[in-house]
Amino acid sequence: MSGNTDMKLIKNGVRLDGRKPEELREIKMELGVLKRPQGSAYVEWGKNKVIAAVYGPRELHPKFMQNPTKAVVRYTYNMAPFSVDDRKRPGPDRRSVEISKISSEALTAVVETEDYPNTVIDVFVEVLQADAGTRCAALTCASLALADAGVPMKDMVVACAAGKINDHIVLDLGKEEDNFGQADVPVAITPLSKDIVLLQMDGKLTRDEYSKALNLAVDGAMQVYEMMKKTLIGSLNRKE
Ligand code: ADP
Repeated sequence: MSGNTDMKLIKNGVRLDGRKPEELREIKMELGVLKRPQGSAYVEWGKNKVIAAVYGPRELHPKFMQNPTKAVVRYTYNMAPFSVDDRKRPGPDRRSVEISKISSEALTAVVETEDYPNTVIDVFVEVLQADAGTRCAALTCASLALADAGVPMKDMVVACAAGKINDHIVLDLGKEEDNFGQADVPVAITPLSKDIVLLQMDGKLTRDEYSKALNLAVDGAMQVYEMMKKTLIGSLNRKE
């Protein structure tokens, strides 16, 4: 997010990849892609490719980490070394620790954790290909994997970003837009109760721009939620 570049990211209302300002990238979703975990999902979001696996609820070890009143939702976000242009150094870094923490908090808001004291629900997300917006794609994919695992939830979590490029507020930033744009606002909501469970901002926005970006991201998330519902219903029909 450099913001002070002359790079033309939008021209006559058309973005570099041909999208309109308020248009999402193409999104594909699939459930039950892995055999071993209780639940799994795969999401392609533009050029992002992410896979999520859910294990548990299972007893949490070491025991001192257990919560006697509820389950712990543990989220592990990892970017594969081959997911970006320059090889990414394997293993956790500050960015992945931050994304894991806030995503775990977002999912804890919807999982019926009180039903499973002393346990952990492990959510692993692997980013196989990254092209901006991976935290949103990963969290959406994780929510689908939790549903696939049959983990009781009050609501789903669905995420989408909006941001600012060449002084225009746009939905769902791509890689160049993220690199050379002015702001990025990833948002996650619970689509039924419309609570915001994750909100970050990189860059600068005026108050008006911020509320426009937030509304746009929420609208985008609701569009993604419609796709999630279709995917979940399709998977139920196949199981019957
Ligand atoms: P998000 O993927 O959620 O938008 P960031 O804004 O931190 O998160 O990253 C934007 C994009 O920058 C990522 O999707 C990825 O394409 C790229 N990126 C992030 N971290 C690295 C890294 N360590 N090496 C190379 N590219 C990276």
